[in-house]
Amino acid sequence: MRVCVPRESGPGEHRVALTPETVTKLAAKGFEIVVERGAGVLAGFPDDLYENAGAQLAHRPEHLDGVEGVLRVGRPPTEEIEALARGTVLVGFLQPLSDADGIARLDERGVVAFAMESIPRITRAQSMDALSSQATVAGYKGVLLAADRSPKLFPMMMTAAGTIAPARVLVLGAGVAGLQAIATARRLGAVVSAFDVRPAVAEQVESLGASFLDLGIRGEETEGGYARELTAEQQEAQQRALEKRIPEFDIVITTAAVPGRPAPRLIPAAAVESMKPGSVIVDLAADTGGNCELTSPGHEIAHTGVTIVGFTNVASLMPQDASRLYARNVVALLEHLAPDGELTLDFSDEITSGACVAGRPKEAAA
Ligand code: NAD
Repeated sequence: MRVCVPRESGPGEHRVALTPETVTKLAAKGFEIVVERGAGVLAGFPDDLYENAGAQLAHRPEHLDGVEGVLRVGRPPTEEIEALARGTVLVGFLQPLSDADGIARLDERGVVAFAMESIPRITRAQSMDALSSQATVAGYKGVLLAADRSPKLFPMMMTAAGTIAPARVLVLGAGVAGLQAIATARRLGAVVSAFDVRPAVAEQVESLGASFLDLGIRGEETEGGYARELTAEQQEAQQRALEKRIPEFDIVITTAAVPGRPAPRLIPAAAVESMKPGSVIVDLAADTGGNCELTSPGHEIAHTGVTIVGFTNVASLMPQDASRLYARNVVALLEHLAPDGELTLDFSDEITSGACVAGRPKEAAA
């Protein structure tokens, strides 16, 4: 199977879908890999590393010549979709829940599209779980962004000039990103509390040395382990409870999300205004609108002395290791779709069928 790795075109996207390490692995399995010149540069992987690993380098638009598969991080630009032959396989974060038009365009063109975010979160597919790998990177980076902006030290410091109390960190949403944020803040020496609407996570929070903040709100969990959206009354009760507790904290990292829905609003402006000057909020849910009412997605702002970091695509701020993990997820999916280097799509398989969001052959329609 001949596959191509284009240079990403999304704003602020520094990651790349295959690394030299994964090129070597795929080449050994019989894949032919074409890498667009410069595709890995922003992630710290120059062209010669790909060439030495066994890839062919190509300029745009020749990189797409004769390819059966396109491996990407983000959505392809329109001209790329138009250049693909019917039946070409596309892999990437294709945003099937929020970009219906983009998915329809792929379907019309007969591109067999696999969305990384639609891979079922079952044990057999854990090695392909790019939502988790990228959330892990974002959770880590979110804490570093907060520590960098905070005027306070994170650890307790006992010095000849006296003792400095440790920073108090609150993590809202204790899924994959939140748990990594807790672990990172703990490693830096902060005192950490966390809250999630899924009561089942309290034990995981405590096992990382943080305390579970009881806001008196209990949400429901779907079969897939995700949170269901709270009712309007529950949301209001949560905001009120948080408003009371939030002034205790120097740093708030928010990661709360409900798949396919805008991020739940947890922190109203009044809660921000009740925080101490110098406090920092890092809103890792900014990609879907943000958990804080004042978050400006893509920007960092200050409000009554509180810094609110609303950067989007935070995993891309650590592009090298984010790409290393993502590329391994992509390879695991590709090996599933094309064992022995030849495309063999079996739509009766839960992973193939679950991840395919466009271009499914008629005879295999769900
Ligand atoms: P996510 O990004 O959809 O959400 C992040 C967190 O926000 C979740 O923990 C959710 O409960 C929480 N949340 C939603 N609304 C909230 C609110 N109003 N207030 C506070 N918190 C709120 O979730 P995720 O991190 O991708 O993962 C969620 C679940 O999926 C976890 O149970 C995780 O263990 C599970 N998971 C399973 C697998 C697997 O292979 N089986 C892999 C990865 C994750």
